Amino acid sequence: MPIPFIRPNPPRLSALGEGLKAIEASGIFSNFGPVNAAFEQDMLQAMFGGEGGCVTTCNATIALMLAIQEAIGDRPEQTRYALMPSFTFAATAQAALWCGLTPLFCDIDPVTWAPSAADEERLLDSYGDRIAVIVPYATFGYDIDLERYAGLTERYGVPVVVDAAASLGTRDAQGRGFGTGFMGSIVYSMHTTKAFSTSEGGLIYSGDEERIKTLRLMSNYGFGEPRVATMPGLNGKLSETAALICRERLRSFADTVAHRSHVMERYRMALPELVFQPAPSGQQSHQFGVALLPPGWSELRGRFLEVLAKQGIGHATYFSPHLAQHSFFQKHALFGALPVTDSVASRVICLPMNDTMTEAEIDTVIEGVKRAFGDCRPYTPASHAYLASAMAAD
Ligand SMILES: *Cc1c(COP(=O)(O)O)cnc(C)c1O
Repeated sequence: MPIPFIRPNPPRLSALGEGLKAIEASGIFSNFGPVNAAFEQDMLQAMFGGEGGCVTTCNATIALMLAIQEAIGDRPEQTRYALMPSFTFAATAQAALWCGLTPLFCDIDPVTWAPSAADEERLLDSYGDRIAVIVPYATFGYDIDLERYAGLTERYGVPVVVDAAASLGTRDAQGRGFGTGFMGSIVYSMHTTKAFSTSEGGLIYSGDEERIKTLRLMSNYGFGEPRVATMPGLNGKLSETAALICRERLRSFADTVAHRSHVMERYRMALPELVFQPAPSGQQSHQFGVALLPPGWSELRGRFLEVLAKQGIGHATYFSPHLAQHSFFQKHALFGALPVTDSVASRVICLPMNDTMTEAEIDTVIEGVKRAFGDCRPYTPASHAYLASAMAAD
């Protein structure tokens, strides 16, 4: 049986009959209705210990646009850049462009693959107040240091919007959900392909409840007074039907995160040849089974993935190409050399990860990866066969 790369597992729609009937009876289908309000309260308690506030959105890309626009609201005119890693999803850069900003790409840390602190500070020092906002990505749900970002806001006066698209379920060693108490905006996705799998949906959290109030108005056309726009806005609301799916998803989510951690732990233990992110001190939410091939293996990745494909093992290569390698961002973003991003992106592989993965399926993936290593090893740079075939190709 082939093992798909992802196998989305949103709540069963056919089991939501009662909830749908209740929505129908209420006559309220959107505009922050009762199901959405209950879901926001549930999330605030379950993920953030009741601290701060949150607002849902129709997806995380719109949420990033709202949060970036809100963050840059009172920035001076000359600010133009959104500082972000190139090793992220296209949505991060697209959202900045919709806000009239130019993405400015920084390099990443070689160990965590999160934005490099040194490179962020180098760019903040050289671009000064032309940087309107910092948009770090909490890479693959990794628990990035948010206190450091609060420090950057203090030191440089630049606001921070965190792209935490894959981070619902990530907790620190004390069990606090990722983002809890952070005073900037943090954006999470509830898209089908994330661990918190629904259909479409996003969530913006902030420790600052006033900020969430503003974002809620911005998400409703910027209506600060009845049907009068008093600020920038768009329609970013989550429908009641979508909120029902989200609410249902939360009920079993703790088990989902635990199972995914188990899958990742088995990959980590059984495949020491691969390079993983550091093991979390608390709990990391895992969207995919992400790892790097060893240094020197980038040329062999295509062959390696072919061996996996032949065995029916689904896979992907997020985020390769990285953003600075997309033709659109080459025209509309600013960046210099990104050596760590180039190296990480050229070796990244994403293995299957899903909520219902069995031990036998995990074994199959592990065996498949071992076979791929075996099949490719004769071609590693150190070997004569590789040199011979490279010379023959010349
Ligand atoms: C999934 C994802 C998004 C976009 O989320 P949507 O809800 O699909 O709009 C943004 N950034 C990153 C890093 C993502 O992985």
